Amino acid sequence: MKTIGLIGGMSWESTSEYYRLINQYVKERLGGLHSAICLLYSFDFAEIERLQTQDEWGVLTDRMIAAATTLEKGGADCLVICTNTMHIMADSVQENITIPLLHIVDAAAENVNKNGLKVVGLLGTRFTMERDFYKDRLKQKHGIDVLVPEREDRYTINAAIYDELCQGVIRKTTKQKFFRIIEALITKGAEGIVLGCTEIPLLIQQKDVSVPVFDTTTIHARKAVEFALG
Ligand code: GLU
Repeated sequence: MKTIGLIGGMSWESTSEYYRLINQYVKERLGGLHSAICLLYSFDFAEIERLQTQDEWGVLTDRMIAAATTLEKGGADCLVICTNTMHIMADSVQENITIPLLHIVDAAAENVNKNGLKVVGLLGTRFTMERDFYKDRLKQKHGIDVLVPEREDRYTINAAIYDELCQGVIRKTTKQKFFRIIEALITKGAEGIVLGCTEIPLLIQQKDVSVPVFDTTTIHARKAVEFALG
């Protein structure tokens, strides 16, 4: 079994899900007492969030490269960044390591394409919904068109991620707001919904939504196990 290197803590609420899912999938494949061999570099998210808010993306890129290098030196055979947002600097991170970075967008896109969908709605942080790194990769590399919520709804989602979900707070009222936003995306033509933030699956699951939902935490964790076990 290969060693999975995880960069997490963004937030730990979702990193603990990655840890649970990765071990669960290894157990499903190998049975008995088997569990994943992994290394975790976990950030203090308060510091990361402050740097994001201050638009210090250069500093954040340096931190991510340092974490990835530490994991590679420690013996990781692949790298998994346990957040969609921090794939902003995925290319720079990959350039500085020799082990493969398992990109969350590629993992999500593979599942969207398997379902034969052409247009998806994307929910995530304002960085993920508004910047080009995520939408462009889905479109240019995988041929998937992306719809994002309106400005006010993007604000609602972003606030829910940082003020609630990343702090372990799950509110019914927030769930209702997400339902409304998802319905609006479906009305506009979304054939599926990408939960492009690793904490959103704590709030929204497939049973809540009438179109296919792509839970990036689960999809990415599964991808890591496929890599580790071949
Ligand atoms: N975990 C979240 C994501 O998947 C947001 C936290 C972050 O800013 O990294 O985007």
